[in-house]
Amino acid sequence: MKQWIYLDNAATTPVKHEVYESMKPYFAEVYGNPSGFSDFSEQAKDAVEQARKTVAGFLGASADEIYFTSGGTESDNWALKAVAFANRKKGKHIITSKIEHHAILHTCGWLEKAGFDVTYVNVDENGVINLEELRQAIRQDTILISVMSANNEIGTIQPLKEIGAIAKEHKILFHTDAVQAYGHIPINVDEYGIDMLSASGHKINGPKGIGILYIRKGTLIESFMHGGEQEHGRRAGTYNTPGIVGFGKATEIAQTLLAKRSAYESELRDYLIGRILTEIPYCRLNGHRTERLPNNVNISFQYIEGESMLIMLDQKGICASSGSACTSGSLDPSHVLLAIGLPHEIAHGSLRITLSEETTKEDLDYVVEELKKIVKRLRSMSPLYEDFIKEKTKNV
Ligand code: PLP
Repeated sequence: MKQWIYLDNAATTPVKHEVYESMKPYFAEVYGNPSGFSDFSEQAKDAVEQARKTVAGFLGASADEIYFTSGGTESDNWALKAVAFANRKKGKHIITSKIEHHAILHTCGWLEKAGFDVTYVNVDENGVINLEELRQAIRQDTILISVMSANNEIGTIQPLKEIGAIAKEHKILFHTDAVQAYGHIPINVDEYGIDMLSASGHKINGPKGIGILYIRKGTLIESFMHGGEQEHGRRAGTYNTPGIVGFGKATEIAQTLLAKRSAYESELRDYLIGRILTEIPYCRLNGHRTERLPNNVNISFQYIEGESMLIMLDQKGICASSGSACTSGSLDPSHVLLAIGLPHEIAHGSLRITLSEETTKEDLDYVVEELKKIVKRLRSMSPLYEDFIKEKTKNV
């Protein structure tokens, strides 16, 4: 198999060996239905409940506030739609930010069609939500604030504590899409005033198709999947036991490694940012310089098409991304990059590199060397770059 330097960890991550091993018995050996009453089912149930406790412990929640779902998209849909419908007598207004993942933005669009009002708050040039605008947006009938913990494209971490305090002050529910942040930065739901939180297994070296929604006790929210009595009857459907066990194990590992991994990755991240910005002309860092995920680098290169850069990196065995996994494939510029004020042509020339604890300095040195050649080659084919250089030399 071709050897890759895998730098697309925000899109998805490999399942860790220990996670895979922890899941294996639950496919063909301990396969009882956790909802059953036999001793055999009990073993599967114990494993599910153990995973729930691990996740709850990591978030500072209690086990009965953790609901297993099929992933981040489902958790986001559940949080928004089910709060909206459960609270519609109280109000029909929701506040979110302009840089949310499509799992939030498209759900908000759907809710607007269903008669709810949504305010999309701006972010600054670093991707940080404007807290004053958030305050101003609050109305008598606001029922929910949903702001992501950290952005999937530019890595900016939001001031969760401040948002939580604003929500609490106005007795509004606060949901956070923590799909990118969970396992990468510490989050305590009480400390941050979070009422609901979405996370996903495949972003933390766990399996795909499993996630959680944390719902604070007492939150007024409708059931999402109707059917059996699983998850207190709020999210019906036979338990995905192997997935849940894998999610629990991945959480346990992420919790143990968090501080060490974050220190390692942020050092590599800053090394890569430093090298690119000093060695490649006409590029800029997107996202906050310090309040960003430890593994996220997002750079815009002027006079370059992001897609061409990706193809050439791919030919060199480097796997990165030009936007979020869900939007690549579309030719529209990223809504996140436009929201931080980048013009279309610069947004189009953006590259997202997301590291892991397996990434080495040597990998990054190779990436920088290849990037320098690729950028030079692509610019040499760009009439716009040629005009820019001509203009520049004329003015010297
Ligand atoms: N929210 C964010 C911020 C994400 O980055 C993603 C996936 O990239 C999702 C939600 C969707 O999660 P899932 O892939 O588990 O459905």
